[in-house]
Amino acid sequence: MSPTIGVLAFQGGVIEHMQALKKAAASLQKEVTVIEVRSSAELESCNAGLVIPGGESTHLSRAARECGLLEPLREYVKVKRRPVWGTCAGLIMLSEEASAAKKDGQELIGGLDVRVHRNHFGRQNESFMTDLDLDFLRSGSAITNESSSSSSAPPFPAMFIRAPVVDKLLAAQIHDPEATPEQNPAQQQQLQDKKENKKKNPAVEVLAILPGRHASNKAAAAAAGEQGSVSPEGAGDIIALRQGNVFGTSFHPELTDDIRIHVWWLEQILS
Ligand code: GLN
Repeated sequence: MSPTIGVLAFQGGVIEHMQALKKAAASLQKEVTVIEVRSSAELESCNAGLVIPGGESTHLSRAARECGLLEPLREYVKVKRRPVWGTCAGLIMLSEEASAAKKDGQELIGGLDVRVHRNHFGRQNESFMTDLDLDFLRSGSAITNESSSSSSAPPFPAMFIRAPVVDKLLAAQIHDPEATPEQNPAQQQQLQDKKENKKKNPAVEVLAILPGRHASNKAAAAAAGEQGSVSPEGAGDIIALRQGNVFGTSFHPELTDDIRIHVWWLEQILS
């Protein structure tokens, strides 16, 4: 049976992701079945991986809850640790925390030990496209053009539509118990457990940064000043990352003709 990859199919770039995955598989000469996922039975059949497309994360979590898919998705990502890729709203769903979330909160799947800042660049009409140098595309056969032996890949056309960025690495907040002797034994145990968990959890790898901070977002700039923040003003914003089985991008590779990131992800999960 060929490996099966699902695309969560409540809204957003479902068809576009499915087409890009099929094209990417063909370019790698791999047999892959790509299916739409709206039920836990469909999710269960995705033995190779799952894509959570962009759209609206509040809608995605509501739809997943209503279809009884939120817990199975958490299990898929965090217990079974199958490969998952979230784009834009999908990245929000895969983060442990989101700022600028809806007032009554929004349920996330989690899996990435980060906080995302929703709608970081503003409204729909502030959407933009920019060329990114993505170092992680250099290493594999994702570079399919004739310059594959050179050290640089052509820039990737990245589309940002009310996109989030990662504004905090949560694991960075874990303190060393020895350094804080005023803690009681229970607190020390808690920290020890967190440290143990951290050992089990692979580290967050930052894969791409959008240079320069978008000045219009004061809240994010303020958040960036907090301790543990990973993108201080001017240093750029994290827009692609990976933590073990979970990969996330702020932008939408499925909305361009460039399939290099789909090819790269397939190479990671099918090898
Ligand atoms: N801003 C949207 C959200 O918060 C995401 C936008 C997108 O996926 N293009 O869910």
